[in-house]
Amino acid sequence: MSQSVSFIYAPNIIVAPGTKYVDDFEDFQKRVLSLLAEIMKANWTGLGIINLIGQTSNKKVIITPDPINGNACAEDRRNPSWGNAIEIPISVEYVKGAGKKSPGFMPDEIILHELIHAYFMHHGIKQDMALFVPPNFYYHTFGEFAAVLLTNIYMSAKGRPALRRDHTEAQLTGMCSHDEGFLILHADPNQFGYPYSQFPHERLIWNLTEQAPELIFNYFVTKTAFLIPFVII
Ligand SMILES: [Zn+2]
Repeated sequence: MSQSVSFIYAPNIIVAPGTKYVDDFEDFQKRVLSLLAEIMKANWTGLGIINLIGQTSNKKVIITPDPINGNACAEDRRNPSWGNAIEIPISVEYVKGAGKKSPGFMPDEIILHELIHAYFMHHGIKQDMALFVPPNFYYHTFGEFAAVLLTNIYMSAKGRPALRRDHTEAQLTGMCSHDEGFLILHADPNQFGYPYSQFPHERLIWNLTEQAPELIFNYFVTKTAFLIPFVII
């Protein structure tokens, strides 16, 4: 019989069968548990997120397998029998690394992205439309901006060569793939004819530090990582 298992370093993160049948739940569970450990051990960013979630033991995050390909979603799903829990259904193919290959879609990156959403929901942090978005960037919501940004910092610290551009499957390129360009420039200075955006990313990042300082202050990553809001040397 399939059993729910808690992640040993953050027992309120649970990998459970959920309600959707998949062929090999045990394999899914094993993979997710080892990916959680990988996220935690990779760098301060991964460790920060897992630790923050683990510190609020009454706020459960339950990862379940989804047989539908291409699906990973931390919508605010609360199952009464699970108490105050956020469910994250994740495609089995994503966890196996058999899904999309664009930046941000590796198994650990998908899980981290969804954990950030779950953290936001549990802590009542703004998830609605992002205002002041630089032209040509598509985030859909402020929560997506935060999840993409923070996962990019994790990916950069991990040495992944390409970063995710926004809530699409595009890649950050050119000047915007560096800290300074990302913070203050347009998506494409050539296209717009002037280099500075009226709505730069630094404004969105400032919003994030106001809303979730405890989240941001856990992002003390190495000097080599992309976009470090705060650096400790
Ligand atoms: Zn998302």
